[in-house]
Amino acid sequence: MGRIAEDTRGEGVLRSFDPQTGELVGDVPVTSPEEVRRTVERARKAQAAWGILSVEERARRVLRFRDAVLAHADEIAAAVSRETGKPKVEALLQEVGVFLLVATHTCKIAPEALATREVPLSMAKHRRAELCYVPRGVVGIISPWNFPFSIPLGDAVAALVAGSAVVIKPSDVTPLVLETAKRIFDGCGLPQDLLQLVHGAGETGQALIESGIQKLVFTGGVSTGRKVAAACGAALVPCVMELGGKAPLVACADCDLERTARAIVWGGLTNSGQACVAVERVYAHAAIHDALAARVVDLVKGLVTGGARDATTDVGAMTFAPQIDVVEAHVRDALEKGAELACGGRRGEGPGLSFEPTVLLGCTHEMTVMKEEIFGPIIPFMKVSSDDEAIALANDSHLGLDAYVFTRDREKGLRLARRICAGSVLVNDVASNYAAPELPFGGVRQSGFGRVHGADALRDMAELRVITVDRVTPPKRDPYWFPYGKVRYGWMLRGLRALYTEGGVLKRLGALF
Ligand code: NDP
Repeated sequence: MGRIAEDTRGEGVLRSFDPQTGELVGDVPVTSPEEVRRTVERARKAQAAWGILSVEERARRVLRFRDAVLAHADEIAAAVSRETGKPKVEALLQEVGVFLLVATHTCKIAPEALATREVPLSMAKHRRAELCYVPRGVVGIISPWNFPFSIPLGDAVAALVAGSAVVIKPSDVTPLVLETAKRIFDGCGLPQDLLQLVHGAGETGQALIESGIQKLVFTGGVSTGRKVAAACGAALVPCVMELGGKAPLVACADCDLERTARAIVWGGLTNSGQACVAVERVYAHAAIHDALAARVVDLVKGLVTGGARDATTDVGAMTFAPQIDVVEAHVRDALEKGAELACGGRRGEGPGLSFEPTVLLGCTHEMTVMKEEIFGPIIPFMKVSSDDEAIALANDSHLGLDAYVFTRDREKGLRLARRICAGSVLVNDVASNYAAPELPFGGVRQSGFGRVHGADALRDMAELRVITVDRVTPPKRDPYWFPYGKVRYGWMLRGLRALYTEGGVLKRLGALF
């Protein structure tokens, strides 16, 4: 975990520690607010030359970075695993792999998604109108510690292809991963100032928002999101807010028990549960509740946990020490209110940051574990007597990012999915939507607003400009220009009536004359 300290000269540095061993991994200088402004100015200069390239050319050049990431995949996975404590398999697939998917798709769809589009006008048919997607300028990205590579860089690629330069503020907990990425970026011939990093805690993020950027993509918790959105409001910077999640999993009586159990275990515990799309609460139908819970506990007990970074570790460390306190408080609250501890429930031993994969049974909505984001390796179960009850409970949340329904009846699954209030609902699957780059990703309610991924989000990375032009030589004066007058008013009134009168041409002509 990272902490701000002073170096020997009294300058601010951000120290990054290995969560598995507690060892210092390295440090980076904290960026002062003045330097943040200078960084954004340098980015703006680099953008001037970048933004005039064609979309095809920008995509072609960004793909060089994609290729370089692929070439350095193992080095990146090691760096991510070292700084976050996640197993190397997860670092490779969920960080490098997801980035490759998102970058490839974004570059592929960009020429068409960002192409100028003609819009037929219903009234002014003598004019041609087009929508153009022009670069914004400098896009700021403020990112969290749980996916320190794939989240900021996926968003960065969209901004770059749309013609902007990018300045990223990584979490102060994981500053080094993007230092590795930046070295790789600089090594593939792209202008160095096109993608830059600023380091520090909240103040650095605040300085970035106030530094003259044209858009901000923020990913983080709800309470920070409120402050960031307020700061964006004050500076009138458009923003995307990707905030917390509390994904419910509805297990219907007819679900495939084995797939559902495995989905719950992976979806709840991958990345030690530190994922905004993690399965955070299970509503299991009474008919299968006991069998499902027993199988989940069985599977959890068979997981390989601990500090080893070889390919056999299933559940790694937690990344951020205070998060262990949050997780512990959830478990304590649930047990005090009558939940049953089926397995786990304690901090891991040793110097590293970890918490045992935990299953809680008999949970209710009186417990924080069912209502507030956990962001740790806890799977709370609640028994329900009907699908309707499960849906009502799933919707009883201030968050709405992902949600999951498990049933063998696909039609029923779709019907239930449509009733859940969330940005994405998956039937018989968990979390895979983030890795489907065609799908817009984001939340409703307090999970945020705006979307990343997909053609609409890519277009939103650009500024929309409307241009209209006459198709034929226009008259000297349009009929609604000055001077007005009584006669003209009469024609306008009859004109409006004619326009909106139903029943065919004759009736319209009647209204006009
Ligand atoms: P935080 O909200 O604590 O921090 C997110 C980022 O904001 C960090 O870079 C942080 O800096 C920065 N920051 C903190 N205060 C300010 C401020 N006042 N102004 C500007 N920037 C600020 O989130 P975490 O890093 O703890 O990440 C976990 C959260 O992220 C969870 O709630 C999770 O659900 C959410 N998340 C959402 C995702 C989504 O796509 N919806 C995906 C992944 C995570 P620093 O760390 O240096 O304090």
